[in-house]
Amino acid sequence: MAEIIRMPDDDARTALDAAHRHALAFHRTRATRPPAATAGFAALLDAFGGPAPETGVPASEAIEQLAAAAEPGLMGTAGPRFFGWVVGGSHPVGVAADWLTSVWGQNAGCYEGAPAAAVAEQVAGQWLIDLLGLPPECSVGITTGATMSNFVCLAAARGALLRRVGWDVEADGLFGAPRIAVFIGEDAHASVFAALRYLGFGERSLVRIATDDAGRMRADALRAALAHCHGPHLVIAQAGHIMTGAFDPIGEIAALVHERGGWLHVDGAFGLWARACPARAALAQGIEHADSWATDAHKWLQAPYECGCAFVRDADAHRRAMTIGAGYLPPAEDEGVRDPVHYAPELSRRARGFVLWTLLRFFGRRGIAEMVERHCVLAQRLACRLAGEPGVAVLNEVELNQVVVRFGGDEFCPLGNVLTDATIERIQQAGGCFVVGAQWRGRRVMRVSVIAWATTEDDIDRAAESMIEAWRAVEKVQFEGERVAAQA
Ligand SMILES: *Cc1c(COP(=O)(O)O)cnc(C)c1O
Repeated sequence: MAEIIRMPDDDARTALDAAHRHALAFHRTRATRPPAATAGFAALLDAFGGPAPETGVPASEAIEQLAAAAEPGLMGTAGPRFFGWVVGGSHPVGVAADWLTSVWGQNAGCYEGAPAAAVAEQVAGQWLIDLLGLPPECSVGITTGATMSNFVCLAAARGALLRRVGWDVEADGLFGAPRIAVFIGEDAHASVFAALRYLGFGERSLVRIATDDAGRMRADALRAALAHCHGPHLVIAQAGHIMTGAFDPIGEIAALVHERGGWLHVDGAFGLWARACPARAALAQGIEHADSWATDAHKWLQAPYECGCAFVRDADAHRRAMTIGAGYLPPAEDEGVRDPVHYAPELSRRARGFVLWTLLRFFGRRGIAEMVERHCVLAQRLACRLAGEPGVAVLNEVELNQVVVRFGGDEFCPLGNVLTDATIERIQQAGGCFVVGAQWRGRRVMRVSVIAWATTEDDIDRAAESMIEAWRAVEKVQFEGERVAAQA
């Protein structure tokens, strides 16, 4: 009996020790590991696969097996030369807080069920409002990411707009409700369309507003579209375009929307963090005049996945849209107590406030400002290096952390597409950094996002070298090919 009782403790120690060991080894090699997975699908399926296990294995062995199967298939997202998508770098301080969050096993739905988690979330939310320069009356919901933050904000918007015309959507539903016109920039992020869909706003029902070369919503086009709109309306703007990093002219848009009594929501999954950086805050000028804002902590704040934040100026609308009341849930009694369950969809939930609180405590206002500024300066440094190379064109004005690159000249031509894709492939094969291709304004391009906490000037210089080297090799092959063709 004693053996059995003692076993779980030993198991716990060996499992946690094994995870700790693997974590430190992974962290130590983050800069030297290949930035992309080395194993393909078949190998991973082989490593993870097999029939459902009949008997168990010792705790540490389960962890060893996980690490052995996963490691060849891991991407270098937490490393310094991963520029593939707008992702965060899972900062070790956030990871440490995340470990404790898991060990503590709090169910962070209500204060009564997880008091420390509820208060950490409440305080972190207030700190975020301050750091991002949002209106102090905002309520905050902590979510799994910007997709869900957009969903939360848009649900609040839907309820508030319909209440203004005498319809209670939370009680009576959407069928038969007055129509809400939804205006959204042509270049909004795909996840916003998904969030709208979950709320009953089908994609064909949206009014898409023209954008400029950088993907910014054109205020004049919005003005023209709104002129025909007489009922409730919702406008969705963007702070930080995933290709160019550009910001919609949000101050101007806010004035247009509020003139007519609409609701302005801002998707600022990464761009909202420019507000926390005095040197870049002007990019997001006027954003404080919106009605709701979505952002991610698992991008620029470097929180481990999944961590997003939804801010709503009308706290009552926010709460009405998300609240879950059940007889068995103890209501908070103390003055000022906040139950997280009323501000985001899930009931049982991870105590994400611990990670948020810890990272904000760790970085401080200055640390966040410095990190955001460093990434923007590094993006500009990379853009300058690339633009100095004959045949390479940087297609965007690098104001934030995004660089859009075209190899073989910036004109729209099929050869440029081929050369760009060939160069990206060579960069990936060389393994010095990770980038991906995308389609932008009719052209194939390479997109670069500088957003990992670990990225240094040296990383950027090495990445620039490997990009230029790849381009020169592609150009040489192309030149040889042309010479052979000319001789034939
Ligand atoms: C990443 C991103 C999203 C989606 O965020 P998730 O955290 O992946 O749900 C939405 N909008 C923009 C602009 C983004 O960059």
